Amino acid sequence: MNSSLPEAFVKSIPLPDDERVRLEEAIGSKAPVSIRINTKKAALLKTSQGVPWHPHGYYLAERPRFTSDPAFHAGAYYPQEASSMFLYHIVTGMQLHEAPINVLDLCAAPGGKSTLLRSVLHPESFLLANEVVGSRVNLLEENLTKWGIPGFAITQSDPSRFARVPEFFDLVVVDAPCSGEGLFRKDINAVNEWSQQNVEMCASRQQQILAGVWPALKPGGILVYSTCTFNELENEANMQWLLDQYNAEPVPLGNLPEGVIESTYGGGKGYRFFPHRIRGEGFFTAIVRKNGNSRESKPEKGRLQTIDGIFDSPEITAAVSDAGDVHAVVPAHLAVLAKLQKALNLRHAGLPVGKWSKGQFKPNHGIVMLYNSIFRLPLLTVNIEQALSYLKREDLGLSLPERGVYKVVFEGLALGLGRYDGHRLLSQYPMDWRIRTAASTEYRPIVKALH
Ligand code: SAM
Repeated sequence: MNSSLPEAFVKSIPLPDDERVRLEEAIGSKAPVSIRINTKKAALLKTSQGVPWHPHGYYLAERPRFTSDPAFHAGAYYPQEASSMFLYHIVTGMQLHEAPINVLDLCAAPGGKSTLLRSVLHPESFLLANEVVGSRVNLLEENLTKWGIPGFAITQSDPSRFARVPEFFDLVVVDAPCSGEGLFRKDINAVNEWSQQNVEMCASRQQQILAGVWPALKPGGILVYSTCTFNELENEANMQWLLDQYNAEPVPLGNLPEGVIESTYGGGKGYRFFPHRIRGEGFFTAIVRKNGNSRESKPEKGRLQTIDGIFDSPEITAAVSDAGDVHAVVPAHLAVLAKLQKALNLRHAGLPVGKWSKGQFKPNHGIVMLYNSIFRLPLLTVNIEQALSYLKREDLGLSLPERGVYKVVFEGLALGLGRYDGHRLLSQYPMDWRIRTAASTEYRPIVKALH
């Protein structure tokens, strides 16, 4: 028995006694480290054991210092806890990636599930990543921008606000804030903060979140609910509550990977990840479909304004806001974005790529993060020491043939922009995202660039 765990918590774990002991042992052991590769930008360098439910998820033998790896800052991979990658299995198992759909990731920061979704969904699917907590929206923006795959927008709206876009989304992902029992081995503070009262508070907040967003789901649409906690109150009981409240049916999943446990509630099934059974943290997920008939949707009025000549590509266009912010947008989303702009607190209408001022385009960091950008800039290739200095926002003493803005590249991966003033390259890496800790220059690459 792991004596540091609250007794009431241990009793609440829905497992037989002998398995509970194995779970407690697992909570006391080292957490596995896993990453998900951005296959638009990079490939894994050395073979490594794969995450069973995601073709681009891999376990690493030890935890590297991600902040000292330029490829991490280039959006070439995302360190993500393995169980969370199961969303890939759900989306592909239900063929939700095969045709363009509207998707909402309601509780999206820091962006693990949003980046996963943006990679797996059809390129013309629209992904709205929402995060209600202001301080966390910046993190979401950072991770989606670095990921570099357009076709998303970012809002900062309370779940109840989504009633303003009724029956709009085909897929809603609610990765709910929870009591975090499944992360106890990674975060010892979570153990100290645990209380039955907090579990109950979380369960009731989750119901409010589900009730708030429910009207935005299309009849026939799918809601994927998940938490990283073990107790039944926040998991099966909330799914049962949802079925009792609304005209919905549970959706069972087939083809479960080994070690994933099927739990039941009423007529439905939940999927449980326990760290003594699989290589990952504690996680719960369940899927429901909204019943009923869809109203006929009217064609959207209006479109966002665009600027020609920035992207010479049918896949992306540059949309400009009234404030002059320029975003990379999938052309098919221009009308949808105009609608959402009126209804929600739209922070970014797409991947932020620059400013439009007095008829001129001034690119920013996002322009070189885009995997499919053909915006032309001279290249400056840097070594590991220079790359880390650049990422700390230090200037580089260099001699280059011409002054101006350069795309800074390390091992084939774009890191950002730099301005050469005739003596030095001034790092234009975003101030808030810069490396603040001492970085190790002992470079151990994890991935290699595709090109
Ligand atoms: N989906 C994210 C990912 O994969 O990286 C993790 C999401 S985390 C489990 C839950 C998120 O819900 C947090 O970012 C938190 O700020 C947000 N949140 C907190 N209170 C909320 C509320 N009342 N309504 C909606 N979201 C909330």
